Amino acid sequence: MSDNLAMTIDGHAVHAAATIDVRNPATGEVFAQAPDATAADLDAAVAAATRAFPAWRDTPIADRKACLVKAADIIDAHADELAALFVREQGRPLPGAKAEIRGAAMWLKATTMLDIPVDVTEDSDTRRVEVHHVPLGVVCGIVPWNFPVLLASWKIGPALMAGNTLVLKPSPFTPLCTLRIGELIRDVFPAGVFNIICGGDALGPLMTAHPGFAKISFTGSTATGRRVMESAAKDLKRITLELGGNDAAIVLPDVDVDAVAAQLFEGAFHNTAQVCVATKRLYIHADIYDQLRDRLHQLAKELPVGDGAEQGNRYGPVQNEPQYRRVRALLDDARAKGLTLLEGGPVPDVGYFVPLTLVDNPPEDSRVVVEEAFGPVLPLLKFDNVDDVIMRANDSEYGLAGAVWSADIAAATAIAHRLDTGTVWINQNLQSTPFTPLAGAKQSGFGQENGVPGLLEFTRPKAIFIPKAG
Ligand code: NAD
Repeated sequence: MSDNLAMTIDGHAVHAAATIDVRNPATGEVFAQAPDATAADLDAAVAAATRAFPAWRDTPIADRKACLVKAADIIDAHADELAALFVREQGRPLPGAKAEIRGAAMWLKATTMLDIPVDVTEDSDTRRVEVHHVPLGVVCGIVPWNFPVLLASWKIGPALMAGNTLVLKPSPFTPLCTLRIGELIRDVFPAGVFNIICGGDALGPLMTAHPGFAKISFTGSTATGRRVMESAAKDLKRITLELGGNDAAIVLPDVDVDAVAAQLFEGAFHNTAQVCVATKRLYIHADIYDQLRDRLHQLAKELPVGDGAEQGNRYGPVQNEPQYRRVRALLDDARAKGLTLLEGGPVPDVGYFVPLTLVDNPPEDSRVVVEEAFGPVLPLLKFDNVDDVIMRANDSEYGLAGAVWSADIAAATAIAHRLDTGTVWINQNLQSTPFTPLAGAKQSGFGQENGVPGLLEFTRPKAIFIPKAG
């Protein structure tokens, strides 16, 4: 079944003439083929979405919401099948795979609880001035491989609910679940409203340059985000960019080390540390540094890493070969610089596995601290002064999220206000909700997703001046 999945264009299954290989990262082996769309396939998808736009825009929002709820129910009902496919293409162990599928269905439904406001800026004796938020047209959605289904739902829900039509592209590393979802919900929407296109490295740039798109909603790396922005500049397409991060977590000396260690560990290593908002620099107060470092190292040695399809594994492989090479290169650099690496337990010697690794108090300017590893390598950094640690945490081109851990909520909140990021968690991590905007500061993003502000990014304001009789 996973070998012959088609794209969804104009409500139909479309197979491309050529295909791309899809590998299981736990083995490195090709196990499926996915369509490699041509420029003509893209043109067909954009043309279909363009044709479908006027009628979808004019469809009552309650009906658009009903379609999304139906789509969510279908995805949820196929969670077991989709999760098994997810494990093979993405690598994450089954419970986490299933949580993502069900989470995406939940997210689609939750989005339908939002409403698009009409702002009234004047209501005087002579006139009423209303600001409506109207759809943009055809939206291009581009998604990465780390949360391929959830992050797709963050685009599908608000783009379609706001009255746009959509052409969605999964990552070439994780196309299968998205293509299968296309098959499952193809008939829920009128033809052309929701299209899925799939291809290799050439397809993304073709999409961002395509004159038929009114907006690009992109999630991926900061380097690619810059290219997307440059491409969109040519015809001033609207853009939302959710990009990379190098999130700092700050642990104050009053925490209960044994109580927080497991949460801190998961906040860094969830999904094999391939989370945009994972903790990527862990600043620990000197008074508890050794104790917490040793506890975290113990967890790294204990928690099982292996094929996500085998029961009991907590963490899977790095998702793809280029990313595996990047993480390995970062570790080689750390070793060459003489940094102390605290390695976790054994990992399989096939596929793209990297041992869960802590780096013991490396210099602040080492690559492993400055760069987004996006793999299971976590630098632990010692501090003894709050002003100093805030300065170090903020000294990054990124500003996605951060966390503060302390028994003193007021002290932690005061630090949270001083972090230059779009989100800060206190005594928790990796939290996001359909009602709360995720908005990267600095080079972590441009615009926002989720909540009413995220929904409005799929619209444009339109002011109407209405005179009053009299
Ligand atoms: P990536 O930038 O390599 O690819 C993302 C998507 O863009 C893929 O679908 C890819 O095919 C496509 N693409 C590649 N080059 C393109 C181009 N020139 N024009 C248009 N599209 C192009 O990112 P990735 O490696 O798939 O994902 C990992 C990165 O994503 C990390 O940096 C991570 O922090 C970030 N991320 C951010 C968020 C967020 O919400 N801020 C969420 C998840 C991941």
